[in-house]
Amino acid sequence: MIRHRVDVAVIGGGPAGLIAAAAAKENGAERVYLLDRNHWLGGILPQCIHDGFGVGEMGESLTGPEYAEICLERAEKLGVTIMNETMALNLEGTSITAVNREGVHRIEAKSVVVATGCREKTRWIAMIPGTRPSGVYTAGVAQAFINLYNRMIGKKVVILGSGNVGLIMARRLKLEGAEVIGVVEILPYATGLPRNVVQCLEDYNIPLLLSHTVTEIHGQERLEGLTISQVDEHLKPIKGTERYIECDTLLLSLGLLPENEFLKSAGALLDPRTGGPVVNQDLETSLPGVFSCGNSLHVHDSVDMLAEEARLAGKNAALYGMRKGPLKVIEVLPGQNVSYVLPQRIDRSGKVVISLRARTTMKEGALLSVSDERKEIFRKKLRSAIPSTMIRIRVDITEDVLNGEKLEVDISER
Ligand SMILES: Cc1cc2nc3c(=O)[nH]c(=O)nc-3n(C[C@H](O)[C@H](O)[C@H](O)COP(=O)(O)OP(=O)(O)OC[C@H]3O[C@@H](n4cnc5c(N)ncnc54)[C@H](O)[C@@H]3O)c2cc1C
Repeated sequence: MIRHRVDVAVIGGGPAGLIAAAAAKENGAERVYLLDRNHWLGGILPQCIHDGFGVGEMGESLTGPEYAEICLERAEKLGVTIMNETMALNLEGTSITAVNREGVHRIEAKSVVVATGCREKTRWIAMIPGTRPSGVYTAGVAQAFINLYNRMIGKKVVILGSGNVGLIMARRLKLEGAEVIGVVEILPYATGLPRNVVQCLEDYNIPLLLSHTVTEIHGQERLEGLTISQVDEHLKPIKGTERYIECDTLLLSLGLLPENEFLKSAGALLDPRTGGPVVNQDLETSLPGVFSCGNSLHVHDSVDMLAEEARLAGKNAALYGMRKGPLKVIEVLPGQNVSYVLPQRIDRSGKVVISLRARTTMKEGALLSVSDERKEIFRKKLRSAIPSTMIRIRVDITEDVLNGEKLEVDISER
């Protein structure tokens, strides 16, 4: 066993991990290690070759690889020790067991940041019946084949699910010469960002078929076709609406699942609404000294949105131990028309950024409010509230608010 003693250890070398590691250095941590199982760094970004990254964060529109390169250079320049091709296996307190070609490592850290990203939902999670031919991919795997390995995946493509990766791949496949028959979405609205619906589908005349789903996969060796059906308001297929579509490729863009087996087996409390850990305003999980950020904390709309959180996690990991323990903890709960809120706990006064998503679409304007048992403490008018667009607000948590038991976040019609 190779032993290391460090101040902060970061697991995951995607944008979240790289930004958190740099922030830990900038906030005084001397020995900062960053572990990633891949031989490259940047996580999923090297395969996202389109531009649009960093607009909010860096003031210019970069490709995924360019954005990742900037994050990596910054971390290296600040002196972060990078261990790639290193798989973190388990976490006990703030000690990590990891393995690479050199052997088994025990990294004893004062604090840890977990930034392990997410994985895509598969056909088996969506429980799509039918045969098991080739030609069925998740959108991210198809993106890797085309953008990293220069392999075309098919000629006649249907995309199930209107998540961002699927929308981006619809455009990519069209540009590569495939026939993109359409994007089929079970919900009555697209789940990807509105700007991606316009730029990736409408600009390329790719149809979006809402309130429909794939009800059967056909083909033996290779996919030959799909049955699609309209769904009712309970998302159940309506009998008699089935129609057959001939195609050789199905891409699944059904959403992302935060990857947290690691934290789960270490005993961290997870939030079933986000799939990530329960955290406080410092992004510290229920395990003392263990912080979380990036897509393993909750799925972000874009990489720019996670940079601010990653910096917060890295900074707080560096400062861990310098702050007094909490005197009082209040819970933050999703209320009317809110699917989740983050952080789920607050234990210190000050400005706190709360991230949340609406449960349903309100296009005509909405009112967002935060209240405790006694009164409303925050109110904001929203032009609209759409589940696919994350909402972030900055709320002043006073000592008086901390005297309550819980906060509830609601979105109502204006
Ligand atoms: C397929 C896909 C396509 C996307 N396309 C876009 C896009 O086009 N535009 C956009 O704005 N956003 C896109 N996103 C979202 C964006 O890329 C993410 O918001 C961002 O990459 C998340 O960063 P992250 O650091 O949290 O995770 P990731 O980039 O996923 O990085 C996580 C890292 O953790 C490592 N890791 C995990 N477990 C371990 C372990 N046990 N030990 C060591 N290392 C580990 C992984 O190897 C990986 O490198 C996409 C996401 C996916 C999944």
